[in-house]
Amino acid sequence: MRRAIEIFAGTAAIVVVGFVLFFFIFAASITERVLNPVINKPPYSVSERAAKLHETLFVADMHADSLLWGRDLNADAAVSQVDVPKLVRGNVALQAFTVVTKTPRGLNIERNDDSTDNILLLALAQRQPLENLNSLTMRALWQARRLHEYADASGGRLIIIENKRDLAAFVERRKTQKAVGGWLGIEGAHALDGKLENLDTLYHAGFRMISPTHFFDNDIAGSAHGIEKYGLTDKGREFVRQMETRRMLVDLAHASPRTIDDVLAIATRPVVVSHTGVRGTCDNNRNLSDDQLRRIAATGGVIGIGFWDTAVCGEDALSIAKAIKYAAGIAGVKHVGLGSDFDGSVKVPFDTSGDALITEALIAEGFSDADIALIMGGNILRLLSEAMPE
Ligand SMILES: [Zn+2]
Repeated sequence: MRRAIEIFAGTAAIVVVGFVLFFFIFAASITERVLNPVINKPPYSVSERAAKLHETLFVADMHADSLLWGRDLNADAAVSQVDVPKLVRGNVALQAFTVVTKTPRGLNIERNDDSTDNILLLALAQRQPLENLNSLTMRALWQARRLHEYADASGGRLIIIENKRDLAAFVERRKTQKAVGGWLGIEGAHALDGKLENLDTLYHAGFRMISPTHFFDNDIAGSAHGIEKYGLTDKGREFVRQMETRRMLVDLAHASPRTIDDVLAIATRPVVVSHTGVRGTCDNNRNLSDDQLRRIAATGGVIGIGFWDTAVCGEDALSIAKAIKYAAGIAGVKHVGLGSDFDGSVKVPFDTSGDALITEALIAEGFSDADIALIMGGNILRLLSEAMPE
């Protein structure tokens, strides 16, 4: 009997150790593969006309959550939506790396509270530092450090942009080398851990764009997907003022309609939406109304159109181009850009090496070469050149 118990205990121990090893070694990469599928795998082919035009463009994307997965961004991963080699192949010049610090279990676009924390499990699976377990600010800083490490190890192919000087030098460099300029953003001001003083810390780590909310209401503002979906809190108003003082961009992606109204009522600088759809082609509460498009454009900001189904109600480049065309018709062609949401737990039609497919779809939608250049990145370059710190 005792022998049987020993065998049972031994087997149980092996199963537990096996499971723990499996969790720590494979869970993060398996999670990424399941959550970030690519419908059509590379290589991608486009018409000669589209390929030629795409090669002349300064392409910029306002949103990718690639830092979340702990993967080396200098490696050309077999399964990924964004890494440096793919960005280079896609002729992408500027890529916003947006940091996610907390998401709810059962995440949906209708109604979420903040009582659960998916990112905690991911942080454990990635063996992140212990300080990341109970601090969202630390999680953001850790991801920023990772981007700096990738840039240091990239042989000059990934350069972090923090101010106008960096950007001007980068634009010069792009004339001779296909480097990628990365800039940092955050999804949700809960990354401040409730303390506005942490804005300084995040600024010094290189963050230049923050959305007040992500999937749940927080102490700064209400989310489009929260429970109460309220507007800016008093602390939220102070957050907007302090963001503007530091020349950090307020990103209205995921904001509740009341938050959008409240921010636009007090904003004195350009406001952006880093990744969204438009209700004109895809009517759900993740996407912007015509009135919101007009008012955001009036601040001088840029609206980044997303590449996934809930944003554009379709799973191909043409659906993305149609949403862009609609947004440009309402907001003006100078206020629309790309906001892929690559690696943001979304299924996308192609990875970033296939961005020329959008150029091709914009040609098919009847845009001029000059307008395509603005949409594909010219508008974001103009905005950042004016809005970034000196
Ligand atoms: Zn998002």
